[in-house]
Amino acid sequence: EGFVRLGLAPELVQAVRDLGYTQPTAVQEKAIPMAMGVEGENFIDLMVSSQTGSGKTAAFLLPVLHTLVRQQAEQQANERAEYERLCAEAAARGEAAPKRARRKDPTNPRHFKAAVPGALILCPTRELAQQVAHDAIDLVRHCKGLRVANVVGGMPYQLQIAKLQNANLVVATPGRLLDLQRSMQIKLDQVQFLVVDEADRMLDLGFSDDLAEINQLTAQRKQTMMFSATFAPRIQQLAMRVMHDNGSAVQ
Ligand code: AMP
Repeated sequence: EGFVRLGLAPELVQAVRDLGYTQPTAVQEKAIPMAMGVEGENFIDLMVSSQTGSGKTAAFLLPVLHTLVRQQAEQQANERAEYERLCAEAAARGEAAPKRARRKDPTNPRHFKAAVPGALILCPTRELAQQVAHDAIDLVRHCKGLRVANVVGGMPYQLQIAKLQNANLVVATPGRLLDLQRSMQIKLDQVQFLVVDEADRMLDLGFSDDLAEINQLTAQRKQTMMFSATFAPRIQQLAMRVMHDNGSAVQ
């Protein structure tokens, strides 16, 4: 089966199946294996020429979510091993098992902490960001503990902040994202994966300076993917600025 062959995590293959996708589209077939990296590392930057309707959204969401799922499984296994070690130590001292740390209530202002997403998807418009976030939520339905947040203007503020706090993947328009970054609601220094969707429209809408700023704020990232309908010279200039020297083009 097509999506299994791409090597995606079983939770994601199941979600894709639930959505009724039987075979990857052409852009998914090409971009997903290139984007997945090798053994969870060695990611290459990608510039992908793609039209709306080509399946481009899943082409960038699936590889990013795949790595986040793997990392989370690894982290949970480490936490479990650490807890078991503490239990064994306590038992050796004849003490009761230690209590597990209780989860904090994100709606309680005393428990406030800035969001530290591992992946950031930038979209030129609010409508596109909502569509991409919607697709991401469909794809994480079997991924326990992976959370998606959408950062756009107009949503009830407290609700958006509460959802944002635990988000692993954030879908945002650049201006709104930078507002939240400046007010310290979100920290971008843990972003590993940056996707610029519809890069050509992003430039048309005047987001060039915002992109430059986000580029700097996420300088530690492991991978950048740019999706665009065209590879016009100005898009190539943007790519030169935001992509590292290992970029590959996928048509
Ligand atoms: P996009 O180009 O990302 O806007 O996707 C266009 C439409 O194709 C969306 O409605 C997706 O749900 C759908 N889609 C994405 N990938 C596949 C696939 N492999 N098979 C069938 N439909 C898909």
